Amino acid sequence: MKTIPLLIVGQGIAGSCLALEALRRGIDFRLADSPSNSRSTRVAAGLFNPVVFRKVAEGWRASASLQEAKACYAAAQSMLNEPFYHPIGMWRIHGSEAEKHSWESKLGQAGVGAFLGPAVNPSLSTTLHAPFGISEVPEAGFIETERFVDALRRHLKNSGLLIEELSPTQHWERSEKGWEWASLSFEKVVFAEGYLLQGRSDLPSNLLNPAKGEVLIIEAPELPQRIINGKVYMVPLGNGRFRVGSTYAWRQTNDQPTLEKRAELILALQSMIKCPFTIIHQDAGIRPTVPDRRPILGELPHKRGHYLFNGMGTKGVLLAPLLAKEFFDFLLLNKPLPSDVRIERFYENAH
Ligand SMILES: Cc1cc2nc3c(=O)[nH]c(=O)nc-3n(C[C@H](O)[C@H](O)[C@H](O)COP(=O)(O)OP(=O)(O)OC[C@H]3O[C@@H](n4cnc5c(N)ncnc54)[C@H](O)[C@@H]3O)c2cc1C
Repeated sequence: MKTIPLLIVGQGIAGSCLALEALRRGIDFRLADSPSNSRSTRVAAGLFNPVVFRKVAEGWRASASLQEAKACYAAAQSMLNEPFYHPIGMWRIHGSEAEKHSWESKLGQAGVGAFLGPAVNPSLSTTLHAPFGISEVPEAGFIETERFVDALRRHLKNSGLLIEELSPTQHWERSEKGWEWASLSFEKVVFAEGYLLQGRSDLPSNLLNPAKGEVLIIEAPELPQRIINGKVYMVPLGNGRFRVGSTYAWRQTNDQPTLEKRAELILALQSMIKCPFTIIHQDAGIRPTVPDRRPILGELPHKRGHYLFNGMGTKGVLLAPLLAKEFFDFLLLNKPLPSDVRIERFYENAH
């Protein structure tokens, strides 16, 4: 039986960024994914944005994460020859006079100020309700997540690296060579299974507090082809279409769209735009959010050779590339992970 150094379980944004990093470092690996089990990455708007608008502050590790994310997606786009990366900036419709004032006072200052752009000329946004004005975040953008994971999937498949099956999670056999599955053995297994982690009885029960999210695809040809963030966001998909999202619902275990959230999104949209729109589609997914809002990375203390790379929450697109790099430094070079993402925090708190 052949021994492979690494198995990655799951090909959402987390597993995809791990696979890109493994390819970049020339590590032999396999990736197991059964895509229909969680659609979180596929329905996501794919936004990357370093600014927390409510506080006009820089997000957690935003500057370093943004730099890494941009480099990662630009390189993946050229390797995969698929145009999914759109670093086009984002418009923020200010939610209040106070937010606008805070924005203007921080503009050009160190920290978050480096990410704040100037006010957008009102003549460019006549189809939007913006009583407090609009400003730009030039460094923000989005990736078409489904296009990205599908392109990477084809590449992995053509390279013989993809196992299109549901991998076991808790019940594994270990031989002298490593962890055995699919007629192979693996030295290390990294689980990047998204919110499905919560069903595992071999892990602390408080790792995740998953958050269901819903989105609409609308057609509104009169809107500017921009990423627009207000009560909800609108992400341009071409041909006058936008992805509009998203909602939050806790303690949900199904990823079916609901009438309740459709109505919530329509109301928010009507308060933001002045032009007609048609709903084309509605979709939903479940985010792997963590109670303390930090990712969960590291080796399982009771199962050496098994690792988690999870908890990307609401920001997998922004965070996963930097975390994947740090995770491989930990896996291969024994470099410590940042303290606030380590899995040990759940085991320490258990005692
Ligand atoms: C509506 C919505 C909008 C969002 N918008 C954004 C956004 O704009 N920007 C942003 O950064 N984030 C956004 N997010 C959050 C983002 O989608 C998540 O951070 C991200 O999807 C988490 O990725 P993941 O790879 O950890 O999990 P997932 O996307 O859930 O991927 C896990 C993969 O593993 C597979 N799998 C699970 N178990 C197994 C197994 N045992 N064997 C084989 N395969 C398995 C699943 O089927 C799936 O393919 C949004 C989420 C939602 C729901």
